[in-house]
Amino acid sequence: MRSRDSFKRAAQLLCEAESLLIVPHLHPDGDALGSALGLYHALKQMGKPVVEVVSHDSVPEIYRFLPDWQAIHLEHPHQTTYDLAVVVDQSQLSRAGKHEPLVRAARRILQIDHHMPLEQFADVRIVDTEAAATAELVYRLLRSMRVRMTPEVATCLLTGIVTDTFSFKFPNTTPRTLRIAAALQQAGADLSYISEQVFETRSFSAVKLLGLALSTLQRTSDGKIAWITIPRRAFEESHAHEEETEGIVNFVRSVRGVELAMMLRESPKGKIRVSLRSRGKVNVALLAQQFGGGGHENAAGCTLETSLAEAEMILVREAQRWMESST
Ligand code: 5GP
Ligand code: MN
Repeated sequence: MRSRDSFKRAAQLLCEAESLLIVPHLHPDGDALGSALGLYHALKQMGKPVVEVVSHDSVPEIYRFLPDWQAIHLEHPHQTTYDLAVVVDQSQLSRAGKHEPLVRAARRILQIDHHMPLEQFADVRIVDTEAAATAELVYRLLRSMRVRMTPEVATCLLTGIVTDTFSFKFPNTTPRTLRIAAALQQAGADLSYISEQVFETRSFSAVKLLGLALSTLQRTSDGKIAWITIPRRAFEESHAHEEETEGIVNFVRSVRGVELAMMLRESPKGKIRVSLRSRGKVNVALLAQQFGGGGHENAAGCTLETSLAEAEMILVREAQRWMESST
């Protein structure tokens, strides 16, 4: 389907639906939350009788400045069959976590995403891997519907863009990204306030955890792969939350000479969550896919059901193989 057609069909679905469910992904980040809430505000403004946002995980503290973040519920809301489920920022429906059945039960599913496509689960898809953030696509969709950009909508969408471009520093930032960001700023989003909230405000515990995490830094002898591990006891010692690891992997990636950075953290259920980041040509989405995960060329993730030490061994070995085959 041509992109113009999918925007048209998506707009039609949004206009026709009376009850809507919006679903960000597991461990939601600024783009998933900003896209979901931006859409929520826009649909409310359009006068939709039922608009609900459900998330598998709670809203991380750093995103609790987003207008109406409390509208994001963790538990099953009242309605069980929605006219339309809008799944944002995810390429696999399993990323909806416990809300996957609720999405499947909806009369129609709309997917808005910018990850490498993995699965066809939606009736209508707006999927563009060239978009820096899903929020960019939500912006374009709302514009095509001539929805008014209120300061609330603009704040949510700009947060998505700021998060996924790492403040316009990552190579996914395009002239279009900047034009959309400028329009959102014009519409009332405060860029410096958003950046301050997302990147420059951390809890005491989170900074303690950062220290513990970075003290485990290692790299391969050629210096191209570097990684850190975060065992359970680091969370206990620092009193930090799971979600407060967001962004730590960027320090690993910043080491001179590193082309592939990894962060392995032990989750409470004994699973190992892995964050992968790369510089240049190394495609980490494909590497993550080998372990049932996914993502973007330069930022991806997966989960391993092993011990931390075992996951470390497996991933370093696979990452080395991967580097050799991609260079
Ligand atoms: P993070 O390392 O920040 O958790 O994730 C990096 C990127 O990869 C994000 O865009 C995220 O949505 C995606 N991602 C992380 N884990 C998974 C996974 O298990 N499956 C898929 N499909 N994508 C993932
Ligand atoms: Mn995203």
